[in-house]
Amino acid sequence: MALQADHFPQSARIRTMDRIYEPEAYVKTVNSYWETTATPPLWPEAAGEISAETVIIGGGFTGLNCALELAETGHDPASIVIVEAMQPGWGASGRNGGFCGIGGSKLPVAKQIARFGEAETRRYFEEQKAAIETVRDNLVRYAIDAETHSRGETELAHRQKDADGFAAEAARMKSLFDSEARILSKAETVAEGLASPTVFGALETGHGFALNPMRYVTGLARAALAAGISCFGGSPMTGYRSAGGRYRIETPGAAISARNLVIATNGYSSDDLPRWLGGRLLPVLSNIVLSRPLSEAELADQGWTSHQMVFDSRNLLHYLRLIPARPGEDGPRMLFGMRGGTSASAASHSAMHRMIRRDFETFFPAWRSVETPFFWSGLVCLTRDLTSYTGPVPGMANAWLSVAYHGNGVSMGSHCGRLAGRMISGRRAPDAIPVIMRQPPRRFPFPALRRNYLRAAYAWYGWTDRG
Ligand SMILES: Cc1cc2nc3c(=O)[nH]c(=O)nc-3n(C[C@H](O)[C@H](O)[C@H](O)COP(=O)(O)OP(=O)(O)OC[C@H]3O[C@@H](n4cnc5c(N)ncnc54)[C@H](O)[C@@H]3O)c2cc1C
Repeated sequence: MALQADHFPQSARIRTMDRIYEPEAYVKTVNSYWETTATPPLWPEAAGEISAETVIIGGGFTGLNCALELAETGHDPASIVIVEAMQPGWGASGRNGGFCGIGGSKLPVAKQIARFGEAETRRYFEEQKAAIETVRDNLVRYAIDAETHSRGETELAHRQKDADGFAAEAARMKSLFDSEARILSKAETVAEGLASPTVFGALETGHGFALNPMRYVTGLARAALAAGISCFGGSPMTGYRSAGGRYRIETPGAAISARNLVIATNGYSSDDLPRWLGGRLLPVLSNIVLSRPLSEAELADQGWTSHQMVFDSRNLLHYLRLIPARPGEDGPRMLFGMRGGTSASAASHSAMHRMIRRDFETFFPAWRSVETPFFWSGLVCLTRDLTSYTGPVPGMANAWLSVAYHGNGVSMGSHCGRLAGRMISGRRAPDAIPVIMRQPPRRFPFPALRRNYLRAAYAWYGWTDRG
């Protein structure tokens, strides 16, 4: 059953004055295909005076995993509170591409080594692999059928020179991370059912798999309720103060007092909750179109029959995968995603829709007349240093933050939520995680210009991604 806008309580809203996009980025309606495949539980609104040990802001992968980690390691579940502005999974967690893979930073490996050294870069890679296993464990532990597929992940070269670089990349993966990678020539990509005129070769790594994100987040939200965690929807945190060693969190209907505060709002964060966060995050739009079910003849016409999850070698990358036919559907659908756009206004959204459709047709010329009935967008989160952060909020006792997975939060959001839970309960010291994940986000210079920086970066990427 499709999620309707009235799934949300009347008071559900995201305050927009301290966020950098137009109000359209924060409306209730998402219109994703995933909404037709699972409906998260409806959490009640928080009401009255509530006393808790820990209050977690945000009901996505990060917040849910943090809460579950605490509940499963001896903390009284009733004194763990999640407050979500909308409903669980409304943010990026319920609307992403479902790639569960290696990632979390946009800092190239060579720069990771230059800044943090080889040992820390290796340690970080191991943590990213562990993040994939965190998701796999969750699916088993909570018996979630997230419709998984794909053996690892494949990068497609969109130019011959990128294909030529794959041998060196594979050698580095082996020598630095002891990780195997398989190189495919253009002819081999065709033979493997990845045929497109825009593909010049591929590099396949064995890490990760694809999933249905709404089914995953729905399973987590149900597990949180089953564990006895106090979950509230339609309850945006509108303000906070601290007194006597406790935080007092305000929502439209409640005041929640708690010793620990966890901020798990990622791309939907507000610049003043908490105030320290002001100007330190850069939410960025990511966009997806999804085709109608494709017939076997159509798949054969294009030569794209593989269910491998793939992305291309552009800076402004495309990410795509053929989703196996779901029950009741008479063929697989193509999910085709793309970063880009610096405005969430209705006009910009339409322009992005045209652009992504144009790229879909360039990628798949045989599907020029195949309809893509779904188009939606959402916010991922970047930092100035291109690294994620999980740890204490500087200057705020017992306040924690886990954000900025650089468009790779299926695995990293899940894992870092768990790490935040372990930090709160003292089972993992904040300085015991890889150093790359514990650099507090620095403030952007002139934060009001953040979208202008993005525009400049996109113009540059558009130029360098050419020919
Ligand atoms: C279109 C798209 C495609 C993507 N594709 C992939 C992919 O294929 N693979 C991958 O790994 N990652 C992908 N991502 C990124 C990934 O979805 C995110 O990194 C991840 O979901 C972050 O999880 P989160 O729980 O930290 O944040 P979110 O899921 O964004 O949740 C934050 C929540 O905080 C809530 N909130 C905000 N402010 C308040 C407040 N004041 N009070 C209460 N609640 C509040 C919001 O309502 C929201 O539900 C994609 C993202 C998008 C948008």
